Amino acid sequence: MSTLLIRGGRVISPEDGIDDELDVWVEDGVIRLIDRQISTPADETLDAHKQIVSPGFIDLHVHFREPGGEVSETIKTGIEAAVAGGFTAVCPMPNTRPVNDSPELTRFMVEQARHIGLARVFPIAAATLQSEGAQVTDFAALAAAGAVAFSDDGRPIKTASLMRQALDRAGALGLPIIDHCEDPALSAGGIINQGPIAEKLGLPGIPNESEDACVARDLALAAETGAPLHLAHLSTAGAIQMVREAKRNGVRVTCEVTPHHFTLTEKAVEEYGANAKMNPPLRSAKDRDAILEGIADGTVDVIATDHAPHAPKLKSKSIAAASFGVIGLETALGLAIAQLVDPGRISLVRLIELLSSRPARIIRQPSGRLRIGEAADITIFDPRREWTYHAEAGKSKSRNSPFDGWKLKGAVTATLVSGKIVYRRADQSTTPLPVEPAQKKKQAQP
Ligand SMILES: [Zn+2]
Repeated sequence: MSTLLIRGGRVISPEDGIDDELDVWVEDGVIRLIDRQISTPADETLDAHKQIVSPGFIDLHVHFREPGGEVSETIKTGIEAAVAGGFTAVCPMPNTRPVNDSPELTRFMVEQARHIGLARVFPIAAATLQSEGAQVTDFAALAAAGAVAFSDDGRPIKTASLMRQALDRAGALGLPIIDHCEDPALSAGGIINQGPIAEKLGLPGIPNESEDACVARDLALAAETGAPLHLAHLSTAGAIQMVREAKRNGVRVTCEVTPHHFTLTEKAVEEYGANAKMNPPLRSAKDRDAILEGIADGTVDVIATDHAPHAPKLKSKSIAAASFGVIGLETALGLAIAQLVDPGRISLVRLIELLSSRPARIIRQPSGRLRIGEAADITIFDPRREWTYHAEAGKSKSRNSPFDGWKLKGAVTATLVSGKIVYRRADQSTTPLPVEPAQKKKQAQP
């Protein structure tokens, strides 16, 4: 038996109503006790004084590019970036090459992750074959292989009738459809947000209505079917307002926003060029403020990164030619504390809810909480720690971030999956964590 003690941290688990200075005792990867000053000696002790002990973060929206785009990211490098950012579980989107529309590929991703042994991977399988929007995939077989939701991310589910069929079938399994809301005809050829910056730079714009029209369509169908719908990376004031009203009317809808959309506006394009190009695009200050309001009032359920790595050759082009997307796993916490918690927009408890318990409930996994008898997936972070992000020093294989060189606040100090320390911050100057105990542990596993 191996034992681990996390000592002296502020333990927060929103779903369990825990927010107190407590110790956490882990045996063979499972939480066995959460109490004041546990004095039993453990094989390993983590000193968490002045730090937050949180349920492991879960990212509902990442792109790991394997198979087919390994030049930009692999499951391994993606997972390494995830645990460095405090994420104990991630949901890779299906727009790989080939598209993940099969139980075989879904199983491959889960098994790769298990073999790598760091974070958990819960694949989101394609909602339609090859995400082409002609025929829905075999949801039951995909779910049996490990898929936790269905999406054609990168593009919306093509037609309203397909969307209704997908909602019906996924709803019968109790799983959500995740939609990337965009009207491809309205946004066709668009590079950045339609507005003053696009005009100034002479670039074709992507209008808010492209997202709003698709959100309206999806909400109508979610209301009609009663099936769970999750809206990815919302970027417009209109979309946030529609979700707010739909929730009030009892529609089973949840939504996520990204750190780049709650931090930046379209103005960032002038400074960061292609590293501020993503889909949906950075919008106006009015849209950004609406997102912040949605985070504060509970309309927004989840912070997801939409981590979208691209090798330099795909990004170091003119902004018009560069690929859409930015990486985000390693900067999410630092941006969220700097932009949301520090200015007093939300509490740390609410932030942890956005990063752990809410996403866990959406994909129906028994995580995102700190509960006796459950796996010790835990993120320990220092909310006051300031640090500078250098994309070059990141774990992701790609460097396409507008936040390169930014000073962030809030640093992950250790990430645990099933009680195993899968990441530990190298520079522990302010609060050193003790190293392995002197005596050798028995390697026998039950
Ligand atoms: Zn998307």
